[in-house]
Amino acid sequence: MSRVYNFSAGPATLPEEVLAEARDQLLDYSASGMSILESSHRGAEFKAIHAEAISNLRDLLGVGEDHEILLLQGGATLQFAMVPLNLLAPGAVADYALSGAWAAKAFKEASSVGTVRAAADCSADRPARMPQSAELDLTPGAAYLHITTNETISGAQWHELPTPEAPLIADMSSDILSHPIDANAFDLIFAGAQKNLGPSGVTLVVIRRALMDRVPDSVPPMLRYRTHAEAGSMYNTPPCFGIYLLMLVTRWLKGLGGVDAIAERNRAKATKLYSAIDTTDYFTGSAAIDCRSEMNVTFRLPSEELEAKFVAEAAAAGMKGLKGHRSVGGIRASIYNACPPEAVDALVSFMADFERRNG
Ligand SMILES: *Cc1c(COP(=O)(O)O)cnc(C)c1O
Repeated sequence: MSRVYNFSAGPATLPEEVLAEARDQLLDYSASGMSILESSHRGAEFKAIHAEAISNLRDLLGVGEDHEILLLQGGATLQFAMVPLNLLAPGAVADYALSGAWAAKAFKEASSVGTVRAAADCSADRPARMPQSAELDLTPGAAYLHITTNETISGAQWHELPTPEAPLIADMSSDILSHPIDANAFDLIFAGAQKNLGPSGVTLVVIRRALMDRVPDSVPPMLRYRTHAEAGSMYNTPPCFGIYLLMLVTRWLKGLGGVDAIAERNRAKATKLYSAIDTTDYFTGSAAIDCRSEMNVTFRLPSEELEAKFVAEAAAAGMKGLKGHRSVGGIRASIYNACPPEAVDALVSFMADFERRNG
């Protein structure tokens, strides 16, 4: 077996220990005589997995009992619609901070449900950046403000979060549990699992309980947060194997020392990679310096031809997934929680070597 360093934006690399554990348990989970893939979601084995996943998340996020933790399906994309379906009543307005491709997609989905307004729009700015809290033009009495804490495609991240009067809703798909945040300050957080939490197919929702009451009757039960909360996230068959892996990933993260410990490791990885970009004119960072993402490091080479060569040679040297998103081009190294520091070390040496040969 030979595993590469995987810099893919998502589905992304998983901790090797987690994959090995899942492999060892695949045919016979915990001496139950069957795989967890074959087990009832109402059985004792899966119930324990589900409960540990939720309690690990509560612990790692540091949210109290005012918030409900839900494990749903449909990805972050379904949340783009569920948020306004549940929280944007007819006649009300929701504000969106347009910071890039993911915020734009959320805005578009929500506009099919109700009235939405751009509180700021820096989607087209280059270098890529996030709106400053001070430039947000907020609607008085807005139903909520939606932000995207990390724009996975452009590589820009909020470092100083806004504190609106309206409920604050955040798409944290690509930076959840990567650094400490005050999760209690958010009214709703959602994240597709496939960047920092596990495989695709599971979606985390952390919602302030008080928000679940105001849902119009026209919303089908399956699309109401309250339905899932009342059913303990088992309204229908949950994505059992994905939740099992998410449980193992959160257990792994707790074992490493939790969010503070991974944040320190993430900071060190990002600092190393950005200094490799900044010490030479050969590479140019794609995001504004004060908005640089610690999860998705985006940069350019002197030409698109050199970028294609860089991606191909890196892959041949055991570093895959470095091609930037097709909409923006360039290079993107996604260095989520599970990306080991050695992967960044290898990339940094490869960059120096590539410049020497092609500079
Ligand atoms: C990946 C991603 C999404 C889309 O998630 P799906 O699970 O594919 O729906 C949404 N927002 C952000 C910030 C992402 O990184």
